Amino acid sequence: MVLNSEQKIELFDCHVHPDFSLDASGTIEEYCEKALQIGLKGICFTSHYDIDPGRKEIDAFMRVKGRITPLSQETVEIYLEEIEKAKSEYESSGLKVKTGLEIDYSPHIEKQLREDLLKLKLDYVLGAVHCLEHIAITSSEEAYFYFERKSAEKLCEEYYTNLLSGIKSGLFNAVAHLDGFKKYALDYYGEKLLETERKWIEPVLREIKNNQIGIELNTGWFRKGKRRFFPDEHILKLANEAGIKLAALGSDAHRVDELGLGLIDAANYIDENKLQFEPFLT
Ligand SMILES: [Zn+2]
Ligand SMILES: [Zn+2]
Repeated sequence: MVLNSEQKIELFDCHVHPDFSLDASGTIEEYCEKALQIGLKGICFTSHYDIDPGRKEIDAFMRVKGRITPLSQETVEIYLEEIEKAKSEYESSGLKVKTGLEIDYSPHIEKQLREDLLKLKLDYVLGAVHCLEHIAITSSEEAYFYFERKSAEKLCEEYYTNLLSGIKSGLFNAVAHLDGFKKYALDYYGEKLLETERKWIEPVLREIKNNQIGIELNTGWFRKGKRRFFPDEHILKLANEAGIKLAALGSDAHRVDELGLGLIDAANYIDENKLQFEPFLT
């Protein structure tokens, strides 16, 4: 796919998982080459940063030079150094390369996250809620263990309570896939989930506004062949009415061939609907 360079909105993919994440493939250099090939203005790497002690055996790793290594400040620094190297290597070609992490937020790890992030030199922190009660509700392999035990009301309450606390923490530059819990939950609970969710949207948007952080327009499902955004169009509209600006576009690529997928659609959608867009990374 070649991106159309006539977009009014510049295509900067701010949600990319290189092979440092265990669930991803493709080196930083391979991603940068691909970014040039498809005409992106920039790329921000956002490896998973998952430190929940309750999931230590599952998540707390990074792949460093092909080896699975426990997540630590040292491993993250190796990752960041590699991005910094790419930053200078690609400068002359005009491609902007940025350092970032996608942190998995939960209130019980907020203190640790704060301490860890203070030590790292990052251009961008993407905040996400992937797990409830230590179960990855955004993973097709784990989500149903959670759904089977919970009502739609409980799911929305637990997801949005965690997200609200994350927004108030001040740790995020932008909220990743704001309603990402709906990935598998919408099929499981059906359309009534949208009704149940409704009362949470207004307080979440209010806190985003109060804390002056942005929302990512995530096109992660385009790589699964589904043409839908996170957050969904209803929430995007309400956010815009509330004066909240979109801060980033993100493909959530986990493989090199997924880089930039859906970003043209996202940029067109922003244009057509006159959504406020103020990129955090430029
Ligand atoms: Zn995510
Ligand atoms: Zn991601």
